[in-house]
Amino acid sequence: MAAESSAYIALGANLGDVKRNLRRAIETLDATPGCRVTGVSPWYRSRAIGPGNQPDYLNGVMALATSLDPHALLDLLQALEAAAGRERTVRWGARTLDLDLLLFDDLSLADERLTLPHPRLAERNFVVYPLSDLAPALRLPDGTPVSGLRKALGARGLEATFATLEQSDD
Ligand code: AMP
Repeated sequence: MAAESSAYIALGANLGDVKRNLRRAIETLDATPGCRVTGVSPWYRSRAIGPGNQPDYLNGVMALATSLDPHALLDLLQALEAAAGRERTVRWGARTLDLDLLLFDDLSLADERLTLPHPRLAERNFVVYPLSDLAPALRLPDGTPVSGLRKALGARGLEATFATLEQSDD
C-alpha cells in the first residue's frame, strides 16, 4: 500500500444549500478510496470578495490522509466542485462550492494546474483562521508558522460561528 500523505483543503460556499454542499464534499471525500478525512475545523462566516452584492461565505478547512498524488487530488476536488453545480462564468463570483488544495505534505511546486502551497493561503484570514484552529503548530514548507500568519492577518471581515453542518437552518 502506498504511503499516506497529509493534505489540507479549504472549503467555502455562499450559494444554494451551503451547509449541505459543504457536508457532501466532506462525506464524498471521506468515502473515496485512498482518502480519509482526519479533521474538520470550526466554521467561519466571511464577507464575500468579488463583484456584486454577494451573500457571506461559510468557510472551513479539512485535513485529509491520502494515498493519491496531488494532481489526482486536485482532479477529485474539481469534480466535486462541478458536481455541486459551481458556476465558473464570473471570476470570484458567487459559488455553490469552492475547494482549494492548501498544503500537501511539505511540497512546494508550481505547474500549469497546481501551485503548492496554495498561492493565496497566506493572505486570506478565512483560510488561515480555520487552518490554525485545526492544526495550531502547523508550518508552511518554508517554515512560516500558521499561528504567525493568523496574528499578522487579524480577523477583519471574519466571524466565528458555532454552526455545525448538521443544522438545516442557517
Ligand atoms: P479558483 O477559481 O480560484 O478555485 O481557481 C481554480 C484554478 O486554480 C484551477 O485552474 C486550478 O488548476 C488552479 N490551481 C492552482 N493551484 C491550486 C490549488 N493549490 N488548489 C486549487 N486550485 C489550484
